[in-house]
Amino acid sequence: MPALNATVRGHQGLVVMMQFRKVRGPLCRTCGIAIFRDITTKTLWQGWWGILSFFCTPAIVIFNLVARARFGLMAPPASGWRPPLEPGKPVIRRAGALGVFAPFLIVGVLAIGAEHRENSTGASKCAHVNSAQGAAEATFTGCDSKADASSVVTHR
Ligand SMILES: [Zn+2]
Repeated sequence: MPALNATVRGHQGLVVMMQFRKVRGPLCRTCGIAIFRDITTKTLWQGWWGILSFFCTPAIVIFNLVARARFGLMAPPASGWRPPLEPGKPVIRRAGALGVFAPFLIVGVLAIGAEHRENSTGASKCAHVNSAQGAAEATFTGCDSKADASSVVTHR
């Protein structure tokens, strides 16, 4: 039975920790593809959650794609002492593959967070409340603008 000495890798980012997984061959074509699909899908949604992990994950996915291509070139197993693993659905048709969008989500959240921080520390916005008309008439203008003498300036 044809077998390939290949390694399929997985990665899990755990914010402060991370975990590497590795399945080393020899594996037949069917088992290799089955393991590739399983571990790569898990890595796609578990791999991004850490600073170092964020950069490890694409490298591991590319590494696995190379192994997948090598398994794909092999002849299917003709006979064996036990049946091969069930390869299942391709990675792209598994829910976990949606994890490929996680980097965009993380970068988006960081960008929104940065904007939010800028707004809340921005000392340039003050509420000028016209005391005659009440708080409902508050307007937000720059702190350094010449406020009406009759208005109350409240820092936001
Ligand atoms: Zn096998």
